[in-house]
Amino acid sequence: MLKAILFDLDNTLIDFSGFKRESALAAAKAMRKAGVKESEKAIYSRIFEAYERFGIEYRSTFTEVLRSLGVEDRNLFEHARQAAIIAYTKKKYELIKPRQKAIRTLSALRSRYKLGIVTDAPKDKAWQRLILAGLDHLFYPVVTFSDTEAKKPSPAPFLRALELLKVMPKEALFVGDMLERDIIGAKKAGMITCLAKYGCHDFSEEENVADYTIEKFEDIHEVINSLE
Ligand SMILES: [Mg+2]
Repeated sequence: MLKAILFDLDNTLIDFSGFKRESALAAAKAMRKAGVKESEKAIYSRIFEAYERFGIEYRSTFTEVLRSLGVEDRNLFEHARQAAIIAYTKKKYELIKPRQKAIRTLSALRSRYKLGIVTDAPKDKAWQRLILAGLDHLFYPVVTFSDTEAKKPSPAPFLRALELLKVMPKEALFVGDMLERDIIGAKKAGMITCLAKYGCHDFSEEENVADYTIEKFEDIHEVINSLE
């Protein structure tokens, strides 16, 4: 019997990749406007190089970018850094916003199941995104990287969430967009798995080991119906 549904956050419930792309573009534009003598494209590439090197949640990305571009003038450095931070933040508010369809779907599920989050994001960023997306009242628990310090596919964060819910792994469905982290990790924890294909950027049918696959978020209802 299905008792709980746990979700990944980034690219499963919110369009994280789109936000990262758009915010990097806006930050590159702002740095150039502040006086950095590089093309927007070159600055944009540096931003993603920093993410590649230090992780997508890196907190000193723009400092790193300006350093890597050899910006030595302290005045220009800070002007460009703050312009980038503000442009990035504005995009965050613009792009991560409540989506009524998703909120309706989740609210309907919440009347029948326990809903939780298991994410590799740090806790402050995860909560900011949930609040901006209008999803912060729908989930308990929200297990973040900060809680177990183990990243998916470690079963640890999944098991932490199940333990807090007092639910057995086989009574819980996990929905996530990454095969190698979400699906493999949830399987290791013994959960039923569902791949959010709409969030995958390198989907491969042969490698798809998920029990269920959904093309769009609302398709979750069909998965639940077949489980019931
Ligand atoms: Mg994800």
